Parts: sequence; structure tokens; C-alpha cells
Amino acid sequence: MKKHNFSAGPCILPQEVLQQAAAAVTNFNGLDLSLIEISHRSKDFVEVMETARSLALEHLGLTGKGYQALFLLGGASMEFLMVAYNLLQQKAAYLNTGTWSSKAIKEAKLFGSLVEVASSKDQNFKYIPKGYTIPNDADYFHCTSNNTIFGTQMHAFPTMDCPLVCDMSSDIFSRQLDFSTFDLIYAGAQKNMGPAGTTLVVVKEEILGKMDRPIPSMLDYQVHIGKDSMFNTPAVFPVYVSMLTLKWLKDLGGVPEIEKINTSKASLLYSEIDRNPLFEGFAAKEDRSLMNATFNLTEGANKEAFDTLWQDAGINGLNGHRSVGGYRASMYNALPLESVQILVDVMQTLEKQA
Ligand SMILES: *Cc1c(COP(=O)(O)O)cnc(C)c1O
Repeated sequence: MKKHNFSAGPCILPQEVLQQAAAAVTNFNGLDLSLIEISHRSKDFVEVMETARSLALEHLGLTGKGYQALFLLGGASMEFLMVAYNLLQQKAAYLNTGTWSSKAIKEAKLFGSLVEVASSKDQNFKYIPKGYTIPNDADYFHCTSNNTIFGTQMHAFPTMDCPLVCDMSSDIFSRQLDFSTFDLIYAGAQKNMGPAGTTLVVVKEEILGKMDRPIPSMLDYQVHIGKDSMFNTPAVFPVYVSMLTLKWLKDLGGVPEIEKINTSKASLLYSEIDRNPLFEGFAAKEDRSLMNATFNLTEGANKEAFDTLWQDAGINGLNGHRSVGGYRASMYNALPLESVQILVDVMQTLEKQA
């Protein structure tokens, strides 16, 4: 039986997507060839890339609004530097909400001066700072919408005069937002879209091309746009699986529908964390993530019993990140509500046993 997969990333993908992907590895589109042994310039693959790009824009409500979707290599971590390479002329503003934001800040510092507008490091990133000001002369403002490790999520975004850049790696396509207020969104595929190996970048074209410094071709968004995201060989398999997931999401009713499911999953788990005296949440309540729920046992003595219970129940990937400890339940789009119910049942069994 399939495990209840709460892994933080790489993570669960829809079962039917995995089956379709497996079939395409042996015989793609009835070509009697594998998806991964045909030319990326073939008509069949070009169609995959184009479908993935257009579905990404469609799900975000950005079709025909001056945005381009790219499937690039190098992971979300590559975007930490590509964003700065392409947009940081003098000074950029960053919000520091965790490990990934900190890494983005470290890379951007190589390209210009940085203003850290606020940080929640003083409390091990358990909350999202609010009420900060973004300097008027910043080239852009960068934030991380969902902090995968700490289990916090931005439920509101500031308004500003400069472009808004957001790392949405772990909550892309999970909830409705007015995505047209963002100028550049990036997301590593392996949290809510597909296998590791490709990164989605959605960028408003008008913010590009304003840089004095020369940009190496591979790191230049405009080069990738000019080549329809095929400047070099793309990650054909990850792009194909991402396309399948985006189609799966569309058949399900798109982002509005998945948001309802994600909200039910999160409220089921958080209610239990708050009700059950053996557990306590890590993140500040108002900033809790719908995707990654971080929590602890109130008494360490229950650890062995709890770990045995959830492992016996077929649950995978519940251990917290080493910088937080405790537990983390990642409830990405493909995780069924029933898996969350199993976890809640296990938490209640522990309470009865203790
Ligand atoms: C996982 C993650 C990353 C890093 O992604 P890579 O593809 O491994 O570089 C960056 N940001 C966030 C928010 C993440 O969750």
C-alpha cells in the first residue's frame, strides 16, 4: 500500500501522474520511444514545454498579462543569484523569514547593497515580521511566501513601488493570490509540481533588460525567454511530470479548488495540535503555513511511542528539520485528506495510551 507521504521535498505527487510518467518513460505518445530518449526539439517535446508554460500562467491567472513562464535548471537556489544578476543594480530589499530567505540574501549581497527590512531570526523564525518599511529606492523587494522549514506562511504581502520578487517554492499553486501584484515568482519543482531538476520562473517582461552589467547567457532571463525556455537542453522529464501535475490540477478545478482541500487538511491537523494536550504548534498561529505544519510533543518522554505509532500507520517523512526539531507534516497539493486523518488518528491514539 502507498505510504502516507508527508515528506517536505522532494515530496508526494499525484498517483495518476506517477503512473502516466512511468508509462512515458517506456513509450511516449505512442512513438515507441521513451520521453527521455527523443530530441527536446522534437514536435512532441516542444508541445510538452509549451503546454507546461501556458498552464503555469493560466493557473496563476497571468495569461496575456505580459508575463513569461520558464522552466530553468539549477533549482530555486540558482534563482537566489539569477534574480540579483538580472535585477539588482544598486540596492535591493529583502525580508528574512528563514533559512531559504537567508540563503537568498547571502547570494544577492554579491551583486549590490542589501537592506534587510526585517527578520524573525530572534525567535528562530517562528513568525512573519510585519509593519516594516521598504525603501523607496530599492530595485526590488524579495520575500519567501512559505517557509518550508519553520512552517510559516505570508498571508498578506506589502505594497511597494518597486518590483515584488517571491520565492514560492513550497506553496506555488496551493492557494489563490492576486499573482499580478508579483513581478517575478520562482519555485523549485520538487515541492508542489514535479520531480527535482527544474525550476519554474514566472516573470513580468517589462522589469527585465534594465541592467548595466553583462549577464552570462545561461543566467539571463531574457535569453531564456527569447528561446522559449529551450536555450539549452531543458530537464525533459521534470518538465513533463510538471506538465502532468498542472493538467491534474486543472482537471481538479484549479487553484481555487485545491485551496479548499488544502484549507481542510490544514485545519484538521492544526485543530488536533491545539486540542491534544500532548502536542504544541511551533509557528505563531496567525502565520501558520497551510503546507508545512511544524509541531512538537509537550513531553519528550512520548517520543518513542509516537514515532512507533506513526511509522506503524504507514506514515513517511514526519521528522522536523534539524534546525527546528520536533515534527513537520508537509501537506502539499497531492497529499489526500485521508492521510491527514490517519495522522490525527495516531495523535489521538497516543493520547489514549499515555
Ligand atoms: C526547497 C526550497 C528551496 C531550495 O530549492 P532547491 O531547488 O533545492 O534549490 C528554496 N526555497 C524554498 C522556499 C524551498 O522550500
